[in-house]
Amino acid sequence: MDLGIAGRTAAVAAGSAGLGLGSAKALAADGVRVAICGRDPDRLAAAAAEIEGEVLAITADLSNPAEGRSFVEQAIAGLGSVDILVTNAGGPPPGMFESTEIDAYQMAFDMNCKAMIEMCRVAIPPMRERGWGRVCAITSVGVKQPIPFLLASSVARAGLTSFLKITAREVAADGVTVNSAQPGSHWTDRVSKMMDRDQAGQSNPMGICGESDDFGSAVAFLCSEQAKFITGTGLLIDGGQATGLLD
Ligand code: NAD
Repeated sequence: MDLGIAGRTAAVAAGSAGLGLGSAKALAADGVRVAICGRDPDRLAAAAAEIEGEVLAITADLSNPAEGRSFVEQAIAGLGSVDILVTNAGGPPPGMFESTEIDAYQMAFDMNCKAMIEMCRVAIPPMRERGWGRVCAITSVGVKQPIPFLLASSVARAGLTSFLKITAREVAADGVTVNSAQPGSHWTDRVSKMMDRDQAGQSNPMGICGESDDFGSAVAFLCSEQAKFITGTGLLIDGGQATGLLD
């Protein structure tokens, strides 16, 4: 399916591996010119080599929200515009109520909420002026069904999800959509550091892990021309993990 976005431009945060890289690959395969960021220049270069076409690789540490702003500013300078913004970052370390220090909440907020808001504050105003834009935030199934051992992450992402929902309505009339892609267990570096593949697959009734490239295809669809009437929503990509009725 032609997504109708060939020739557009995208900034994909933390596109150096995993779900971000899958998203950057899918957008580039549809003819989008892509900028990615990550902390490690060597890793960024390796990721860029996996993505079709010319890729703008920008070093940024998103644990500092100002670097989220700077990433999008540099992407706009390098690509000429950012039509599509995919917000993403690393994930906070695991922890429950007793094991989560107070500073961990601030760190999770900075990396998984405030950095995303900074990116949106740079990217969305020019999208509104041009009358076309797509924002897709990579968040988590934990937004729909909080994950007990990822307490700080769940708290930060709930805040971001409110920001996305409210912003989506404010910018809707200008042709800008704001959505999130909510992953359940995908087999990435992050997950492989916490558990083995079989364990990760047990989180959902399919008993398997999702693949980053498939996830990226779903993100690319949310950023497509055809998705112009989809806004303010969160798409679960979780193999049926979340059990609630409200989507
Ligand atoms: P990953 O660790 O495999 O890849 C993340 C990429 O971002 C890596 O290249 C990493 O080096 C980079 N990165 C990490 N911290 C960064 C920082 N501070 N600044 C810039 N770049 C940074 O992770 P993933 O599995 O692709 O997850 C992406 C996001 O999705 C995370 O926030 C994660 O918590 C969330 N998530 C993932 C899953 C899953 O199953 N993989 C499920 C739910 C939510």
